[in-house]
Amino acid sequence: MIEINNLTKRYYSLTALNRVSLTIPQGEVLGLLGPNGAGKTTLLKLIAGLIYQDDGRIHPTTGKWPLIGFKPERLLFPNHLSVRQYLALIAGISDIGKAETERIVTDSLAQVGLLDAADKRISACSKGMRQRLGLAQVLIGNPPLLLLDEPSNGLDPEGQQEIHQVVKRLHAAGKTIVMSSHHLQEVTEVCTRIVVLNRGQIHYENSMTEALAVQANTRIRADRPLSAMQAQLQALHPEIEIDGSIVVLRNEAMRLRRQVMTMLLYANYDILEVRQARATLAEIYAEAVN
Ligand code: ATP
Repeated sequence: MIEINNLTKRYYSLTALNRVSLTIPQGEVLGLLGPNGAGKTTLLKLIAGLIYQDDGRIHPTTGKWPLIGFKPERLLFPNHLSVRQYLALIAGISDIGKAETERIVTDSLAQVGLLDAADKRISACSKGMRQRLGLAQVLIGNPPLLLLDEPSNGLDPEGQQEIHQVVKRLHAAGKTIVMSSHHLQEVTEVCTRIVVLNRGQIHYENSMTEALAVQANTRIRADRPLSAMQAQLQALHPEIEIDGSIVVLRNEAMRLRRQVMTMLLYANYDILEVRQARATLAEIYAEAVN
């Protein structure tokens, strides 16, 4: 949907983004991870056209720019208005005619689960409701591309879950979403691709499925240390490791699970546990930013 080539953004002497290249495919939920100051907000603002790059190019792959909905990290609302009044105001600014406003506002409230709070004053809304109001605002005008800067920032686990459900629903409804986040669990749950930025550069990029599958392993725990079996097991495959009383099979070696277990049983070991593990995003992240 969007192609980014060698994008560079400087703030005075600070290079916030340094020759970043990235494709945002249609229909994906792309999670932008990275420590504070990595350049996530800068990238989102550049895609939204709110700031301009010093070098490089951002262009739509279809030749035509899609409508974009941008939710900034910090939300400031006119507290004296009701939720519905505020969205009607946004619809007005977005050139949506009076006749259509009510339907569009109701629709965007329904999409974020805020219909029941439509007549509540914003000042009386919880943080979770305000974040969802921020999402409802982004949906006015039905943009196919949503840029969400830390959509669950500052929310308790319940509020975070609500946002995850909304993001998943929007994805299922066909939206392409780019969201920044510091919550690895959130990114694991809702994103289909991940990009880890660090000091203005991309340090890791992959689809979520591949990222988590790539370091898959099987751990077989025996009843006592396996040092006596080490040579024999490792002769089977180089990706078999012994860690005390545990045999770890990685990648291709995972196919040898039954063979390894048979060898252990023949050698009079008991098998106490067999566990299939996937890489966690925390491991991938730590490797990318260190
Ligand atoms: P966070 O996770 O804290 O939101 P981020 O990854 O979104 O961080 P950015 O906000 O993009 O990072 O900032 C990247 C770098 O650019 C930081 O060092 C930041 O201080 C700097 N920066 C951002 N905006 C400006 C600005 N308007 N003027 C000067 N420096 C800026």
